[in-house]
Amino acid sequence: MLDHAISGGTVVDGSSPSRGRRADVGIKDGRIVAVAEPGQLDEQAAQTIDATDLVVAPGFVDPHTHYDAQLYWDPLATPSSWHGVTSVIGGNCGFTLAPLRERDADYTRRMMAQVEGMPLVALEQGLPWKWETFGEYLAGLDGSLALNAGFMVGHCALRRYVLGEDFGRESTTAELQQIIGLLRESLAAGGLGLSTTRSTTHVDGDGEPVPSRHASENELLALCEVVAEFEGTSLEAIVQGCLSRFSDEEIELLARMSGAAHRPLNWNVLTIAADDPGKIEHQLRASTRANELGGRVVALTMPTFADNNMSFLTFCALWLLPGWRDVLAVDVPEKIRRLQDPAVRAEMMEKAESSPLRRLADFANYLIGDVYSEANEPYRNRKVGDIAAERGEDPFATIVDIVVNDDLKTILWPIPAADGDADWELRRRVWDHDDVLLGGSDAGAHLDRMLGSAYPTRFIADCLRGRQLVPLERAVHLMTDVPARLFGLRDRGRLAPGYRADVVLFDPATVDATPARIAFDLPGESKRLLADPLGVVRVLVNGRETIVEGRSTGALPGTVLRSGRDTAGTETSTAR
Ligand SMILES: [Zn+2]
Repeated sequence: MLDHAISGGTVVDGSSPSRGRRADVGIKDGRIVAVAEPGQLDEQAAQTIDATDLVVAPGFVDPHTHYDAQLYWDPLATPSSWHGVTSVIGGNCGFTLAPLRERDADYTRRMMAQVEGMPLVALEQGLPWKWETFGEYLAGLDGSLALNAGFMVGHCALRRYVLGEDFGRESTTAELQQIIGLLRESLAAGGLGLSTTRSTTHVDGDGEPVPSRHASENELLALCEVVAEFEGTSLEAIVQGCLSRFSDEEIELLARMSGAAHRPLNWNVLTIAADDPGKIEHQLRASTRANELGGRVVALTMPTFADNNMSFLTFCALWLLPGWRDVLAVDVPEKIRRLQDPAVRAEMMEKAESSPLRRLADFANYLIGDVYSEANEPYRNRKVGDIAAERGEDPFATIVDIVVNDDLKTILWPIPAADGDADWELRRRVWDHDDVLLGGSDAGAHLDRMLGSAYPTRFIADCLRGRQLVPLERAVHLMTDVPARLFGLRDRGRLAPGYRADVVLFDPATVDATPARIAFDLPGESKRLLADPLGVVRVLVNGRETIVEGRSTGALPGTVLRSGRDTAGTETSTAR
């Protein structure tokens, strides 16, 4: 007797090349046991799910999330699971909540609040902070997940654990041995690999460089060699050049790390614009070089734009422009005084010019979102460039004038750059590269500023009814089988007999995501952006329904993905 039969749908099985076909899917004991011609399943089923007019696909795998904290209060990892995601990889960018000494919990919370934009109150109230080892942290999630989640081991956590407050330097030989031992213990407990950051954008709650940034290359490579000892592991790293262009040293370092670990290393995020095609070639030199050293470096890139907002009131990406933090990290009256000074603004713009993030300062291409004063009502949903032109002012002066009316609370939406046909054609070509993977949502992070987590439904919608850059089957393959194989997820990423029954059913006529909205549903009623799914009818994880018609069933069939047990075969030679 089957547990479920999914009958009458169009099965897009995740493999490549594949064509969607009418088929019935039989599920038993958490696995797919049959994919048969319609009406031809040999066994009866306890429950039959009618999939007429629906697509039946493997659940999506999101390779870059920061759900490390949220999963403790939200077993569904919303909104990702709403959009058909059934497996997430967390612990990225060097930041994990374990291993952890009690004395460092406050430091870690404040660091996570700063680097990943998680509200401090949610971190303080939403988690027990009772674990010490990586294994204890993972065990705290066992049996309480509605999707599968695996975690890299964060380099910052390892260094803070061993060096304490004195982490602002290279480790001694004895300390390095302790860090190595701690990584080994964490990987043995199921960590999926090592993540690290060397990016200058990553500062802790005190505004100081995060612990991993003080590590020597020698330390990094020694840790990569430890990763090589464990099956089903990989690496993830962020360096300064990820956002712009890698330096030669960064290319060499990423390649050597992967070579030393004999494991794939992924980085994010590769942004693609037709006015700078040379950048793609340049960034992918890291992959070519890794190949020469017996490694594999994989770039993550997003197939849709993330919703992304800015505000002059609190921390946002504008602070990352050179020198801007100094102007913006003060109280509101002082900040207003500074922003209203034309000389200060001129200096800010001059400094922004030198930054790879300079597009953030292109205020003409901002939309005014939520406003909080009578005076600003006329500007809601208008483009700053248009308002500035009417006034005969420069856009920075105009935007400052508007946000001051709201005591800086105005929500601002930069209009995505590189949104032309040539940009999307270049993206489509880059997605074909063997060392490029779709992902980079940062789901679970930057909660009130950014929403990338809805990319699976948005991309499918775009493939079916929008730009139609790739066929549905290929879009599914790129978000299921390809990431599952990069991380070596055993028996996941496809719909085929023997595979785990992680399944999403969606209506191809309506599947999509709504625009982002603001919700106050985090612990402490803190704020985040959410997008609701459209046309996602059912989600199954390990053979059990977790979401039916947009509602959680309350089932918790998710697995904590542990290296070795749930993963295998991430060797760099793995062909796609
Ligand atoms: Zn990240």
